[in-house]
Amino acid sequence: MALSDTTEIHQFPCLNDNFGVLIHDRESGTTIAIDVPEATTYEKALSEKGWNLTHILITHHHWDHVQGLGDLKQATGATVYGPARSRQKIAELDRTVEDGDHIKCGPYEIKAIATPGHTLDQISWYVPEIGMAHTGDTLFSLGCGRVFEGDKEMMWSSLEKLIHQLPDDTSIYCGHEYTEANAKFALTIEPGNADLQARAEEVGRIRASGGATLPTTMSVEKATNPFLRAGEASVADALGMSGKSAAEIFAEIRTRKDNA
Ligand SMILES: [Zn+2]
Repeated sequence: MALSDTTEIHQFPCLNDNFGVLIHDRESGTTIAIDVPEATTYEKALSEKGWNLTHILITHHHWDHVQGLGDLKQATGATVYGPARSRQKIAELDRTVEDGDHIKCGPYEIKAIATPGHTLDQISWYVPEIGMAHTGDTLFSLGCGRVFEGDKEMMWSSLEKLIHQLPDDTSIYCGHEYTEANAKFALTIEPGNADLQARAEEVGRIRASGGATLPTTMSVEKATNPFLRAGEASVADALGMSGKSAAEIFAEIRTRKDNA
């Protein structure tokens, strides 16, 4: 049986607007957590599912992604993988990865894609066999992370990397439920984008009923996310920036969002 047939992905809210994500393979019992905003919520999710945690993957060093790591590691004995750049910052790391490394977690072969900008250590985790990726605080639905440690050019290069490396049908999970606010901002950049209008309506409906707007897909984001669309002529036109580079247009959109 294909790995995609035996895999279940469980996403649940943590803290105010973070996500917890568990990937579970029924055949091998492998269970992978991505980021640990809080240990108690993860422990509850694991016990409800009856899953034993075997691996933890970390996207970056921010407190709202690693706060529960020590307790969860201690409670489960899971092996922790994370960015080599944060070896000094995250004491619980057992193995570290650099851009392009592949790690084996049970039956899953997982690729580390370095996507710096929000932080310098940021890793996006890609699991090709099940067509999913977790982009941490780099790519959000209809948005992208604030640029804290890198610069805007670096962030744009990271988003371009995701555009090139992740197929359109990849399911995208990320660190935060920011989609509703992102949709409002995205419409200020491309008010005439029909795909964006439809997605904004869908997001409004989902949030009104208390649901999650993630996962999304690369194809949805390519059609609607203004940050991923910085290279599109229509976006350059909408901003009155025709002839400028995608990196310059991305920087303008990021600046507008920071000041929104
Ligand atoms: Zn962060």
